[in-house]
Amino acid sequence: MRFFTEGAANWKNLQDLPNCSFVCGYCNVYVSSVKGYALRLQADSSGYQIGGVYICPNCGGPVFMSPNGGQYPSPPFGRAVGSVPDDLNKIYEEARRCTKENCYTASVMLCRKILMNIAVNKGAEEGLSFVEYINFLADRGFIPPDGKPWVDHIRKKGNDASHTIELMDKNDAEMLIRFVEMLLRFIYEFPSMVPKEGGQ
Ligand SMILES: [Zn+2]
Repeated sequence: MRFFTEGAANWKNLQDLPNCSFVCGYCNVYVSSVKGYALRLQADSSGYQIGGVYICPNCGGPVFMSPNGGQYPSPPFGRAVGSVPDDLNKIYEEARRCTKENCYTASVMLCRKILMNIAVNKGAEEGLSFVEYINFLADRGFIPPDGKPWVDHIRKKGNDASHTIELMDKNDAEMLIRFVEMLLRFIYEFPSMVPKEGGQ
C-alpha cells in the first residue's frame, strides 16, 4: 500500500534526520527513515532533537515518535498469519489492533470468538460454552501437549467471565493473541505450505 504516488505528490520541505528504524503503523513493514520533521528543544541553541515525525519510505505515511519513546500509530500486536479464512482473519486482525490500542476486553472477546469459530469449523456443535469449545480443541489434539498450562489458564479466564463482563488486562489480551496466533499457524498456515498430494 502507498498513500500517494511518489512524484505526483510530496511532503513539503522534508528535513534530513538521523536514521530511525521502526515497524510502520500504517503499512506494517519494517522500515528505516531519514526524512521527516524534527521536534527540537528550544531551551538551548543546540536544538537537541527529542522526537519527530518520520515519513515511512514504503507507504509515505507520517509516523510520530514522541519524546517519551512512543510511536503513533504503532503496529498491531502480534504477528500476521497466512492462509487463514478471510472472515476469521479479519477478526484476528481486529483483535491485534484492539490490543495495541489498549482495548483489552474487546480483544479477549474477539479471541474467544475466533476459538469458538475454529472449534465449530473442526466439528464442534454450535451453542456450546466457551470452556466447552476449549475442551473440544484440547481433546481433539489441536493444542500441543505442552500447551496444557495455556489451556488451563484460558479455561480459568473463560470461567471468570462466563456471565458477567469482566475487564481484561494487557496480560490477558496479549497471552490470548499469542495463543490464537499459534493455533491459526498450526491449523491453517502450516498445512497450506505442504504440497498437495499429486501436486508438485
Ligand atoms: Zn508505511
